Amino acid sequence: MATNPESPLDLLWKEYGLAFREFDDLTLARWLAQTLGQLEGKTWRLSHPLLGAYRLAAQLAHDRQIWFKRLATPPAAYSESPCCRAPMLPLLTRDVRDSGLICQHCNDTLVPFDEIPSAIRGDVEAWAALYAPVHAVAHWDDRQRKSAGDYDRAYDQAAKEAENLLARAGSQLAPKFLEFYPVVIWEDQDECLEVRPEDVLI
Ligand SMILES: [Zn+2]
Repeated sequence: MATNPESPLDLLWKEYGLAFREFDDLTLARWLAQTLGQLEGKTWRLSHPLLGAYRLAAQLAHDRQIWFKRLATPPAAYSESPCCRAPMLPLLTRDVRDSGLICQHCNDTLVPFDEIPSAIRGDVEAWAALYAPVHAVAHWDDRQRKSAGDYDRAYDQAAKEAENLLARAGSQLAPKFLEFYPVVIWEDQDECLEVRPEDVLI
């Protein structure tokens, strides 16, 4: 999920998304509602192809205001998002402390950190606090890199720790959200540390 709209990866995803542009509004609404039913009750990697497809359809649906038109009924377990009125589909990322849980329909904050249920907020905060200094290694300035001595080794070490922490998010943290949300997606990569989904084993 690169954020630069001109990046080759974004252009590729734009090309993938053309498949959904051929759907009329009703077909798109039904596809989304049906797929939500199939996603329900599980935790999902952000990199899962089904999620990739859903996100493309969801963003098109957001542009077309599909959920305002009430063309299809999502499964009952999904309540309405305060951000964009789409069904709640939260994404857990390493930025959860600052950005909360992210909406997969409009990319805005779906649940601010302080509104994450208190039963799991402490665990999430502890995990994010462990992750932040590990991730920061990728953004060290020259002075910090020099003082580390062997920066390559420090970077590789940070990437290994990130792999473990992301695996913990997927295997231990994400399942706890299912008590409060019908589904949760967790970010299984760290582009700054070059950690790929296939490096994160759960
Ligand atoms: Zn939203």
